[in-house]
Amino acid sequence: MSAKSAATFIAKSTIKASNLDHRRKINFNISKYNTTVPQGKAQFEDLMDAREQAKNIKWRAIENLDSMLETFEKNISARGTKVIWAETAEEALQNIGKICKAKQCKTIVKSKSMVTEEIHLNKFLAKQGIESVETDLGEYIQQLDEEPPYHIVTPAMHKSKEDVAKLFSRKLGTPDNLSPQQLTLVAREKLRKKYVEAEVGVTGANFLIADTGSISITENEGNARLSSAFPKTHIVIVGIEKIIPSLTDLALFLPLLSTFGTGQKVTVYNTIISGPKQKNEIDGPEEMYVILLDNGRTNLLSNPKTREALYCIRCGACLNACPVYKNIGGHSYDTTYSGPIGSVITPHLKNLKSWKHLSYASSLCGNCTEVCPVRINLHELLLENRYESVVEGDSAVSERVAWKMWKISSLNRSMMNMGNGKLKNKVVNSLFKGWKKHRADLNFSQKTFNEMWKEERGKK
Ligand code: SF4
Repeated sequence: MSAKSAATFIAKSTIKASNLDHRRKINFNISKYNTTVPQGKAQFEDLMDAREQAKNIKWRAIENLDSMLETFEKNISARGTKVIWAETAEEALQNIGKICKAKQCKTIVKSKSMVTEEIHLNKFLAKQGIESVETDLGEYIQQLDEEPPYHIVTPAMHKSKEDVAKLFSRKLGTPDNLSPQQLTLVAREKLRKKYVEAEVGVTGANFLIADTGSISITENEGNARLSSAFPKTHIVIVGIEKIIPSLTDLALFLPLLSTFGTGQKVTVYNTIISGPKQKNEIDGPEEMYVILLDNGRTNLLSNPKTREALYCIRCGACLNACPVYKNIGGHSYDTTYSGPIGSVITPHLKNLKSWKHLSYASSLCGNCTEVCPVRINLHELLLENRYESVVEGDSAVSERVAWKMWKISSLNRSMMNMGNGKLKNKVVNSLFKGWKKHRADLNFSQKTFNEMWKEERGKK
C-alpha cells in the first residue's frame, strides 16, 4: 500500500509537472489570486498582530477541545439541534444514511464541504439511490466532470473558461462557446429546481461557535444558504477542529479567511445558524443535525507537535504559495486535502506509513508557513512527519544504509579526502540512481574542503 500510493503519486506528479498547458492555467488562476490578496490584506492595521491573535485563539480552542465541544453541544442542543459524534467516516455515513431513510430522501442539495469529500459522501448516497447535487458552481463543474475538487477553496482551478464551456456542452447540451456569465446562468437554472425538490440539505461549517452554540458558513454564491434553509432537514457535517470559543472571534476570523482565501475583504455571504426553525419563525428547516467528525483528528491532537495543524481554517493560501503544488496540481496527491496542509495532516488522518511520501514532496522553502493566516509551522511539521516515519522504521533499508555511510565518512577526515571529485561523482551518482531520476547529477568539488583550507592558509 505504502509503495503503491507513493508510486502513484510520483507517476501522476511526473506527468503533471511536464504538462505546460496545466501549468499555464494554474499560473493564470493563481496570479489573479496574487493580485487580490495584497488588496485584502490592506484592511488590517497590523496584519501580523491579527495572525498572532488568530493563532492564540485557535491554540486556546484546541487545547480545550473537549470542553469547547461540549459547550457547543449544550448550547446548540438547547434550540433543538441534534448533535451526533462520529469517530470515523463510516459512523458519519451511517448516521446520514439513517436520517435520509427516515425522511424518505431522494434528493440532497449539498454546499461545498471538504469534509463530505473526506468521507466520500456522494459515493455513499449514490449507493443508497439518493441523488446528491453539488450547488457550489466550482463543485458543480467538478461533479459534472466526475472529478474530485482540485483545490480546497477553488475546486475547478485547473479548468479554463473554455474547458468549462466544452464540459457543459458535452454534459448538458449547451453551445460550446458560452461565456462564464452564460454558464453560470445555465447552472443556476438547473440548481434552482433542485433546492425545491430536495428533502435534505447538507452543508459543512467554517466555524463552530462554542459560546452561542452556532455554526458559521462562509460562501460567495448564496448556495449554502439555500441548501440549509430550503429543505426540511439540514445536516451539517464538520470536523471537530473547527471550534472557536466565541461569536466575537468571527470579527477576526471572517476577514482573515476571506483575505487569505480569495483576497476579498469579506466574503459575500456569511451565515450564522443556531438551530432549526423556532416556534415563532417562518423560515428554515424543521430539523437540524450537526455531525462532529473526528476521523483521525485526535491523532493530530495527541501529539503536542502536530496539534497545531488543527488550527487550519482551510483558506487554501498554502496551496497557492507552494512551488510543488503549482507544478503537480491538486489531483496528483490523491487525497482530499492537497498542498502543504494536506501533506501535513493526511499521514495522521489516514496512516503515516502509506502517506509519509507526501511529507517529502516539499522543497522546505517555508513559503507555506510564511503565508498561513494562523501561522502554522507547516514546513517544520513536514519535517516532523519525516522524523516520525524514520523513528517508526518506515524508511527504506537503502536509505538507512546510505545515511549511515554518509555519517561515517563525514566524521572521518581521511575518508573525506579519499579520491578526487571525479571519482566521488562516479561512485555517488551510480549509487543514488533513484535520486537522479528527477534531478541533475550530484557534482562534488574537485578539491576537498581540507585541500582548499590548506591552500588558503598557505597564501597567508
Ligand atoms: S494551513 Fe494555513 S494557509 Fe494552509 S489552508 Fe490551513 S490556514 Fe490556510
